[in-house]
Amino acid sequence: MYKKLFIPGPTHVREEILQAQTAPMIGHRAKEYSNLQGEVRPKLQQLLYTQQPVLIFASSGTGVMEGSIRQAVRPGKRALVTVCGAFSKRWFEVSEGNGIPTDKIEVEWGLGFRPEQVVEALGQGDYDALTLTLNETSTGIQNPVAEIAAAVRAAYPEIVILVDAVSAMAGAKIEFDAWDIDCVLASSQKCFALPPGLAVAAVSERMLKRAGEVPGRGYYFDFLDNLKYWKKDQTPATPAISLIYALNKQLDDIMAEGLENRWARHLEMAGIVQAWGRKYWKLFAADEFLSPTVTTIANTRGISVSDLNKALAERGAMISNGYGDLKEKTFRIATMGDLTVADINWLLGEINDILGLA
Ligand SMILES: *Cc1c(COP(=O)(O)O)cnc(C)c1O
Repeated sequence: MYKKLFIPGPTHVREEILQAQTAPMIGHRAKEYSNLQGEVRPKLQQLLYTQQPVLIFASSGTGVMEGSIRQAVRPGKRALVTVCGAFSKRWFEVSEGNGIPTDKIEVEWGLGFRPEQVVEALGQGDYDALTLTLNETSTGIQNPVAEIAAAVRAAYPEIVILVDAVSAMAGAKIEFDAWDIDCVLASSQKCFALPPGLAVAAVSERMLKRAGEVPGRGYYFDFLDNLKYWKKDQTPATPAISLIYALNKQLDDIMAEGLENRWARHLEMAGIVQAWGRKYWKLFAADEFLSPTVTTIANTRGISVSDLNKALAERGAMISNGYGDLKEKTFRIATMGDLTVADINWLLGEINDILGLA
């Protein structure tokens, strides 16, 4: 049976978007392709409130985490990673996995970072790059990236700030230029509500300059090489053409909805889940850091989350168990992409019915 996805990726993809992928193949060096990428280009910039290039990769989001960190740190310098859950921890593993000297600061899961914590930690080492996770998908928190970036920028003008916005981009407002961050990346299967396989990354002048100073910055994700092709509305290697058709259609639909309306809808859906979570359970995340795209709920009733999901499957829905160590201790409901308030109300009604919650 078809299950509507309320998991934090892949998310529900509308029929029109699936259809958009069925357009006939075109040559990626042909004018038709450049025309397609040329249509996508300004819409991605509009989505991120930026004049800077927004590069496109045939990859999941993790690929660009790897690609970006290795071009952000010069030899002899270090990276600082902010860890507040399983996905932000991945930045640490990716950075170390690329042989970059890496340090981390951590907060208790369920919390986010405050600007002064990050600025203080940056004073402890010779850092070239800082990684932030806008929305930590395991704990359901959103970090105050704009405030952190402003404080960091004031103290360390040259540091490159890399932001994983995989579970937030296209669902929450990200003002790339105004925030003065250097790389913000996301993949297609979360708030973009596209099938997986595509990643995008906005890159600042500071990021591009830094990349030029890093020998061995890699090949596939090399921002300078990608920029050369971006200027021709192409990519260095073969792009995921079908997904870019879908992206083009989705960006049209996003603009038709209106960006502010889209952010407001995500907040409204999350607010409904949060209110329900408070009424029947406990929210895992601290109130001041609550995410607009995924709510992590503490399993205070000691239910079997996996049984709940089996019962939901029979009714055509799927939610997410807790991530890693939080499995069965928490569960997660995503409010991402093209889900509607009606979808969320329907889902919560079904859960209430299954569990006998009044
Ligand atoms: C899903 C997710 C990732 C991983 O993205 P992929 O596209 O699966 O590589 C990374 N970071 C966050 C915050 C995520 O939610």
